[in-house]
Amino acid sequence: MKTEILKMELNDVDKEKLRFAAEVLRGGGLVAFPTETVYGLGADALNENAVKKIFEAKGRPSDNPLIVHITGKEWADSLTASVPPAAEILMDRFWPGPLTLVLQKSDKVPGAITAGLSTVGLRAPAHPVALALIREAGIPIAAPSANISGRPSPTTPKHVIDDLYGKVDVIIDGGCSKVGVESTVLDVTVTPPMILRPGGVSYEQLLDVLGDVAIDPSLLKKSSENFVPKAPGMKYKHYSPKADVIVVEGETEKVVRKINSLIEEYKKSNTSVGVLSTDQTKMLYGDVPVISLGDRLKPETIAANLFKAFRDFDDIGIEVILAEAINNQGIGLAVMNRMKKAAGYNIIKV
Ligand code: AMP
Ligand code: MG
Repeated sequence: MKTEILKMELNDVDKEKLRFAAEVLRGGGLVAFPTETVYGLGADALNENAVKKIFEAKGRPSDNPLIVHITGKEWADSLTASVPPAAEILMDRFWPGPLTLVLQKSDKVPGAITAGLSTVGLRAPAHPVALALIREAGIPIAAPSANISGRPSPTTPKHVIDDLYGKVDVIIDGGCSKVGVESTVLDVTVTPPMILRPGGVSYEQLLDVLGDVAIDPSLLKKSSENFVPKAPGMKYKHYSPKADVIVVEGETEKVVRKINSLIEEYKKSNTSVGVLSTDQTKMLYGDVPVISLGDRLKPETIAANLFKAFRDFDDIGIEVILAEAINNQGIGLAVMNRMKKAAGYNIIKV
């Protein structure tokens, strides 16, 4: 398949390119586009054939539902059976933004999107190109992350090109994704609302608005075993670089010491090792490639760099990634969720 790459400026979205991409979507084609969380792979959410192409291009298991992207709450009535008051409050507060709301679906939403579930995930992305594209297309856009299933989510146009060039009609290049981890998936069909996937909107932010928020118990366990996550996608090994990932958790000083001793061990077996550090610790490691994810005290900087760092280590052929854990507060909960899943719950506590 021929893939058209369209570069778009954020503050001056090219009308002609936008019309072209919107036309491809309306005609049942696939368009990868930037969002503030990660890049999405979009198709007409109400066209079952178009939606099937998403699953094929990504190699995505068909039991993993897709999030439907819309411009705002004006779409909620036609796509859902009912909108509880809490959902309305959250839409007003966090849309457009990195929050997906799981609601009872209307008959209009095809089962292919929801993997047969009676609910649908809705989100209005806060990216000028994404919003302009959905508005121009005039249809809801089903869009999972624009990567091959299982690979780290794409946060730059290069990541999308690496995974999907030749498999999709259009890739829109709109620069780097700011948030860097996916949206928070919140089930608002239950009371209190439950976080099914931690993401760009934090538990603390939701608590502040709602007063009471549950977290899917499977997210809080130390291993993925024995707990079936409520969001079907969360059960898959995910976000994985080709390298093995080991997360080291504990007091920062001890973590650094442990990682240095692991570096020495791996050297003996000629295994190439890379370290995912933070700004505060990046000078403390031996003679191995080190990528600092950002400032330990600003977890949003770490979220923005995580997936890119995984892919950067893959590009230089690193075999084992030793990653410092960070605090679970704020977006740190999403960072640690992605890191631990990438590690297959291979976590060393010190
Ligand atoms: P992705 O778009 O690839 O980042 O994945 C979307 C995530 O949202 C997956 O973990 C899905 O399982 C989850 N999801 C989407 N729709 C629903 C739904 N109706 N109910 C529960 N989880 C959902
Ligand atoms: Mg994904």
